[in-house]
Amino acid sequence: MVSAATDSAPTSAQSIWLEEKLRRAGFGDVDAFLRAYGVRTYRTNQLYRAVTRELVDDVEAISVLPHEIRQRLVEDGFELESLWPVVLQRSGDGQTTKGLFRLGDGAEVEAVLMEHYGERTTVCISSQAGCAYQCAFCATGQGGFTRNLEAIEIFDQARYFARELKSRGKKITNIVFMGQGEPLANADAVMGAVALLTDPHGFALGHRHITISTVGLVPEIDRFAERYGQVNLAISLHAPTDVQRSVLMPVNRRYPLEALIAATDRYIARTRRKVFIEYVMLAGVNDNEETARALAALLRGRLYHVNLIPYNQTPDASFAGTAEGRIRSFQKILESHHIPTTVRVPMGRDIAAACGQLQAETQPKAHGSR
Ligand code: SAH
Repeated sequence: MVSAATDSAPTSAQSIWLEEKLRRAGFGDVDAFLRAYGVRTYRTNQLYRAVTRELVDDVEAISVLPHEIRQRLVEDGFELESLWPVVLQRSGDGQTTKGLFRLGDGAEVEAVLMEHYGERTTVCISSQAGCAYQCAFCATGQGGFTRNLEAIEIFDQARYFARELKSRGKKITNIVFMGQGEPLANADAVMGAVALLTDPHGFALGHRHITISTVGLVPEIDRFAERYGQVNLAISLHAPTDVQRSVLMPVNRRYPLEALIAATDRYIARTRRKVFIEYVMLAGVNDNEETARALAALLRGRLYHVNLIPYNQTPDASFAGTAEGRIRSFQKILESHHIPTTVRVPMGRDIAAACGQLQAETQPKAHGSR
């Protein structure tokens, strides 16, 4: 017998998952599915749990469901996956795996697994196919914008790598929204994905193990704490003056530094939580001592942690990366102003899987027939 407890109301993450899934499978809503299959809510609970917690990838393998239900789901073309790997590449050191995934409509996105020699496992996921923000140094922006991803399509990138890790007795410890796209420009779906990633009845990752990185969309930063709870916020800053930042990041013309820093201050005042500042080091552009001092002046006295990111070469090769010695002296200047600063270790450069190098090939000819 099934106890009453297993027929309890679904979590909101579960509702998001079921609604998207069942709509994709051609049902109007969850009730329509329950009626059509003549089953009670606990069956959808079991389905959700199998997919998001046990990471099952095949309907036939969901052994808690009676054979007839499984068979019918298969006949109805019910898909557990929303994306499929087209290419998987592993870096020479074996620590980084890049996946190119195809979505149901043929759009493609990339996601990257970084294993950090066993110390932690981070998955970098995409929130949009392409990106509309056109940052001068980023490969994704160079390819233009294709479309927003749905919550399940974002979540399934993490699910894919979680399953792969599980087969090796490992787990995801961190998720970063630093793949393709601007997460805060697709806020509803990203919120849904965060709900799925953190659902204690499902995927069960802690909020504090998730980081959302943004070009600096001020109204969304103001809503951040209320929308995403304890998720970490990272701001892609890259320059301490409007003149410089508007050249590197056109979005700065809409949300200049003063407004961006003010929004970030409001967020810190409200949450008492540290904000991460991303700063890509571009030789001869934003890496001299004067710029370091200007950055220190901008950030001083606030709860910020700066990540200096070595620039990764993109196909158009319009920038060069700052040499390591200069990155270190830039870091020293910030630290002398009491600004905590780390230099990010680049991962997966040999397979173009590093920050800013993700640029899914969306041209059909690149992958043969479709
Ligand atoms: N749109 C979001 C998230 C995606 S990019 C954002 O901009 O924050 C994740 C980080 O990689 C950002 O800080 C971005 O500026 C940085 N990045 C982009 N291109 C890069 C490159 N070629 N080398 C190093 N970092 C890069």
